[in-house]
Amino acid sequence: MKAGFFRQHGGPDVMEYGDLPDTVPGPGEVLVRVRAAALNRVDKWVRDGWPGLKLQLPHILGSDGAGDVAAGGAQVKPGDRVVINTSLGCGQCEFCAAGHDNWCARWQLLGETIAGTDAEYVSVPERQLLALPEHVSFENAAAAALVFQTAWHSLITRGQIRPGETVLIVGAAGGVNSAAIQIAKLAGCTVYVVGSDQRKLALAEALGADALVDRTQEDWGKRVYQLTQRRGVDVVVDNVGAPTLMASLRAARKGGRILTVGNTAGPKFELDNRYMFARHLSLIGSTMSTRAEFATVMGLVFAGRLKPVVDTTFALPEIRAAHERLERGDVLGKIVLTV
Ligand SMILES: [Zn+2]
Repeated sequence: MKAGFFRQHGGPDVMEYGDLPDTVPGPGEVLVRVRAAALNRVDKWVRDGWPGLKLQLPHILGSDGAGDVAAGGAQVKPGDRVVINTSLGCGQCEFCAAGHDNWCARWQLLGETIAGTDAEYVSVPERQLLALPEHVSFENAAAAALVFQTAWHSLITRGQIRPGETVLIVGAAGGVNSAAIQIAKLAGCTVYVVGSDQRKLALAEALGADALVDRTQEDWGKRVYQLTQRRGVDVVVDNVGAPTLMASLRAARKGGRILTVGNTAGPKFELDNRYMFARHLSLIGSTMSTRAEFATVMGLVFAGRLKPVVDTTFALPEIRAAHERLERGDVLGKIVLTV
């Protein structure tokens, strides 16, 4: 089968396109003919590699995918249109049994430690497939799958956002944040967005943000504090990390919640503990969602109430160019691969 892959870790130039052996579905798995995949930040991390990461090489990246069933399972038949839920619970551990499959003891992400969607075919457990309506394009489904489930679980399940609350989103343009803005609006919140350039802030506004704050201003956390009549916001969504976290803490009200699902600026940061206890703050992490939540949030995407933002679309043979675009970091929404 044709695939995008790498044989050694490194920058975008290690990405190749060519023939790899066909994937063979295991027990309980379905063979999907991929029609669209999408890039995520995890692709860069895996491609770059980290100490201790052991992959079978060549490795196929890709955590998002939509396509049609090539060889059927128990519930699906060849030709069925599907979108893939990349968050792989084992289905057997205590957390999976309780419906918390994103807490799975043997959790895996498609494309991270196992072969992903940047290929003509991918084998996935049948329970990871969701029927894709005719009117939703494969590209939009692939662009939505990872980021919308991530933002949904963070804001709705972990963050417990409520109508009338104020939500500050740090960063305007990434896939998760463009999803978070829409989910917070859908939940009836007032949404403030902090962004680093006008193009990104314009996108945030188009997605429904109520107020925009320019991150290049000095001490934007204080600025948000002023905007809220010195009360602070109920919830801060901070997926940036080191450069922004302290300002995020300052922007929150007493008893506020700080939500994080990642770190676009690196994983480690200093934290002034005085803000945490004196202001009764909760720092709430999560990753991905349960399968039930995936069905819920994708249903809202299918209904047009949540809209994936597509930055650019490349054909799979252009996977190196797609990675170069991801690397440059001025991306508005998702980079999609057509297969
Ligand atoms: Zn499990």
